[in-house]
Amino acid sequence: MSMKYSIKIFSIFGIPVELHFSFLLLIMAIYLVALFNFIPGVDIVVAVLITLLFIAVVLHELAHSYVAQRYGIEIERIVLLPIGGISAMKELPQDPRQELRIALVGPLTNLVIAAILYPVYLFIIGSLSPSLNFLMYNFILLNLLLGAFNLLPAFPMDGGRVLRSFLAERMNFIKATELAASIGKQLAIIMAIVGIFFNPFLILIAIFVYMGADQESRTVLISKLLEGVKVKDIMTKDVKTVLPTDTVDEVLKTMFKYKHMGYPVYQGEKLQGIVTFHDLSSIPADKKNTTVEQFMTREVLVSNPEEEVTSILEKLNINNIGRLPVIDDNELVGIISKTDIMKALEIRRSIIG
Ligand SMILES: [Zn+2]
Repeated sequence: MSMKYSIKIFSIFGIPVELHFSFLLLIMAIYLVALFNFIPGVDIVVAVLITLLFIAVVLHELAHSYVAQRYGIEIERIVLLPIGGISAMKELPQDPRQELRIALVGPLTNLVIAAILYPVYLFIIGSLSPSLNFLMYNFILLNLLLGAFNLLPAFPMDGGRVLRSFLAERMNFIKATELAASIGKQLAIIMAIVGIFFNPFLILIAIFVYMGADQESRTVLISKLLEGVKVKDIMTKDVKTVLPTDTVDEVLKTMFKYKHMGYPVYQGEKLQGIVTFHDLSSIPADKKNTTVEQFMTREVLVSNPEEEVTSILEKLNINNIGRLPVIDDNELVGIISKTDIMKALEIRRSIIG
């Protein structure tokens, strides 16, 4: 799944490294404030510190990626956030112990950096200029905070993954994910309450943690529940089609009658396009007699019966569409919609209980 709101900055070991906008804005804001002296005390030294934070986050993520790749897990992208990052893996580690090691190595890297640099800092403190002293002290502190914060047992932090892998050795993966996510959400709520009384910044982090927990559990649920499910298993067969020469009015009537929101447009044996309720609903009354040909989408993505449903869900989301006609040997054999997928998810969810 793609990460929204981030831009690619470089590649390392063939992995694209992306900067999340929140981090990009923070870096730009601090450099701007420093360069133009907007806030007394925020000078170029503080700006360099944000660059050091960036480096600490990159090292953290590279550690995750390195261990994941050693287990043969491909890394799709690394997204850098001010509070750590995300190493998006192409698949989930099968063995909970692998996940445990992949998750732990990130925060450990930061803690080890802090542990090595601190004695060095104490040793050379006398010979440091005030700026270098400030930078080194705060770099150590940042690593310490990054390491500790990411060990919080809540998604999307690494600690959430550590917790899940611990639980996954005792129960099935889906239950482990749900339990870890709900623990994370409760922690976020406590954090927000503490934030109200002590530090409003904590409320922001709490919201981030809450949403991360929610998203993680949903993503895992969907990919696990739909594992091995093919289009032919859940598609709607007996597809009603419409003609390109049918009028808007006629097609709208068909929609209300059959209660489906989208129809392939066929002429003879050939798929001409697809027409949805969304295409037709806003057409003014005096144009209801025109043919749907003018309003249909002509470039239609299609699916085949053997395709995995998880890949369909991605196609639908990326292209922001609701359904795909299913074609087998040039013949329309079904249609698969988001609704079909959601129904299948619900049923499978209730079986697991
Ligand atoms: Zn991490």
